Amino acid sequence: MKVSQEFGSYDAKGHWHPGYPSEFAPLFQWPIRPLKTLKWLLQWGGYLYPSNLMYVALGLITVLWFQPSLAEAKNLEFGWIGYMLLRNFILLWVFYGGLHLIFYTLKLFGNKQKYHPSFHQEKNKKFLFHNQVYDNVFRSNVFSLPLWTFWEVMYWWAAANGLVPTVTFEQNPVWFVSLFFLIPLWRAVHFYCIHRLIHWGPLMRHVHSVHHKNPNPGPWTGLSMHPLEGFLYLSVVAIHFFVPSSPWHFFFHSQHVAIGPAAGHLGFEGPMLKGTMIIGDYYHYLHHKFVSCNFGLNTIPMDKWWGRYFDGIGEYRTKPKP
Ligand SMILES: [Zn+2]
Ligand SMILES: [Zn+2]
Repeated sequence: MKVSQEFGSYDAKGHWHPGYPSEFAPLFQWPIRPLKTLKWLLQWGGYLYPSNLMYVALGLITVLWFQPSLAEAKNLEFGWIGYMLLRNFILLWVFYGGLHLIFYTLKLFGNKQKYHPSFHQEKNKKFLFHNQVYDNVFRSNVFSLPLWTFWEVMYWWAAANGLVPTVTFEQNPVWFVSLFFLIPLWRAVHFYCIHRLIHWGPLMRHVHSVHHKNPNPGPWTGLSMHPLEGFLYLSVVAIHFFVPSSPWHFFFHSQHVAIGPAAGHLGFEGPMLKGTMIIGDYYHYLHHKFVSCNFGLNTIPMDKWWGRYFDGIGEYRTKPKP
């Protein structure tokens, strides 16, 4: 029996799925569709609003008010590094803890538009402490949080010592603005590459299997990774050591990468604010569910180019059609 919903439906076992295929950004479709691309760029829930713009704002707020001065960062000292770690710890708990609280502890939306009918697993020996949430929270806080902070500290220390290429709005306004659009695309390319790499036999078995212990993910699954995967995943920001940018770009990028997985692993198709707050990522959920499809993000269609794309409609094939 199918229960119709505004965007999708539940199957007989209670799994909710969108009623439309999981699509890529029109930016890379051929022939070019200018109107569709413009809509994707500018409409609510598109490329700019609300998510990327929120990270642009958060990056600016961080640089202006919550970042140690460059003068004190010339030497690697516990004071300013500890401050950055504490700030990121708070951000982690606001975003990951906040979404978990709303959707999984208080269950404010019940099962509405939830991909998987059950909530998190307890008493399962594959998880640390035999509990999925404890396992995910532990790995996020003990491994991924310090690694996220490590990359930020390295950048800030290098910037304080004049070791990173910089650009200001006055020097090159076109490049300065363009970078905010390019960074999420670079993130998609980097993520696809390292993700394909860690699906290689030995790395899958010993490293990436940690993240894949969660076929039914929740917010805390986002950064629940083996430390090597966390290091590689977060290394996307190393590009700022080579490409001229500003601290604002850097923190936009770093927070995008570190905070984004909370919503990306939500397990729901954004029922907040009557469906207008678009969070959740069915595309990546399908990767967790089936493992051999949808390695990238749904901006650049790399999975389509390399024959690993599944749009979520119909039966899943072990070898998805190109
Ligand atoms: Zn994932
Ligand atoms: Zn994977």
